[in-house]
Amino acid sequence: MRFEVSRVLDTIEQRLTTDVTLAQAVVDLADVARFQDLDGGKGISLMRIGMVLDAFAQYLMDGHAMLYPVVGRELLSDAGFTSKERMVLGRWIDDGRIEATPMTGDRVVEIADFTGMPIIACRDYRQFAERFGWVTTEPERLLRLSPRPGKAVLTPWIDGVPMPAESTRARATFAAPGRSEPPEDGPHRVFAARSRQAQTRVSTRAIEPAAKPSGLGASLLARLWSCPEMDCPSFSDFRRIGQPVPRMLKGVAACPRHGEPLKDAGVRPAEYPVAVVIDDVVRLRFPVTGSRPVTVGRSLDDPEDISLDLWLHEAASNWISKRHARLDIVDGALRITDHGANGMLVWRRKEAGGAAESSRLYPGRSATLGPHDSVELYTGVELVPGNRRVVGGGPVVASDVRSVLVDAPTVALRARDR
Ligand SMILES: [Zn+2]
Repeated sequence: MRFEVSRVLDTIEQRLTTDVTLAQAVVDLADVARFQDLDGGKGISLMRIGMVLDAFAQYLMDGHAMLYPVVGRELLSDAGFTSKERMVLGRWIDDGRIEATPMTGDRVVEIADFTGMPIIACRDYRQFAERFGWVTTEPERLLRLSPRPGKAVLTPWIDGVPMPAESTRARATFAAPGRSEPPEDGPHRVFAARSRQAQTRVSTRAIEPAAKPSGLGASLLARLWSCPEMDCPSFSDFRRIGQPVPRMLKGVAACPRHGEPLKDAGVRPAEYPVAVVIDDVVRLRFPVTGSRPVTVGRSLDDPEDISLDLWLHEAASNWISKRHARLDIVDGALRITDHGANGMLVWRRKEAGGAAESSRLYPGRSATLGPHDSVELYTGVELVPGNRRVVGGGPVVASDVRSVLVDAPTVALRARDR
């Protein structure tokens, strides 16, 4: 493998977060960094997190799958890291992209319990079954990381043994009814912009997360928390992204980094993750919070807004306005407002994977989005709320989910070439 280490680490960084609104699985990063059999390389390496991200992206068919990494503080002093790796690790910890805790213990399982996220597991977690019974009764919430030639794969634990990768792949494909016709070629489909059919190519099947948050987790997630340490990367005003979930220490909500009891800072406002799905593959995921609306369009200057131009072929680019849609939160619900010239389609579903009915959203109008709805800006260009597994009706092409390790330096070029 040839790649530029710094650029790969920068790409990996974009997929790590301790914001529970965006994260999709929790992982012990120290276990991954020390998993020498993954690549047969040196004793410890941060690049292995890239292999995990690739495996997770392939597992979910989600090109922007995001991880909540936890590390024990001892990892920082491991002499096997290069100075570059140690510097990057320190930055990720300071930025709140990974959670550093004095003792990992059962923290990974606790986060999974409080949020409903699956665990990416390099070890057996059954020792924590006394506090978290589901590690034995719902083993499918654990995804076992194993090496394969040149890559890593994830397989759910069933009855204590991981399922073979092939049957997992088949299951993911067959679990996607709803579209009978094979997908047309993405970038070469021809649309006369003004005579576009109000029919979507994609019937997005959304599968809910592994589990619901536990009762205790739900009550913790309903509040905002404040750490007495002024510059705490997890629970202070200094933090720029959404909060993680507290750690329970002696029955008290505590900061996982500092061990101090956290102060209840009021009701947590509603936040929604939204995925940009292009030709059935998630390309980007961003949060919509109460603090400011997010504008989505062909090309926007503000880095906090979402520009789609990287992924649009010519016809889609002609159709989608520079400022096309605005997402905000009204009365705790996610709302979309059309700001473009051509309107959009809102697909309504009563349940995950259920039949979808479309309604047209005309320019200037707004719609509130339910938990299973999606929005089609143009055929094959969708906004999908929720950290759900998104599977298009046709066979999703694995190569559409790009590797952070191999493709990182050229991803922009390739996307523009399409
Ligand atoms: Zn703290």
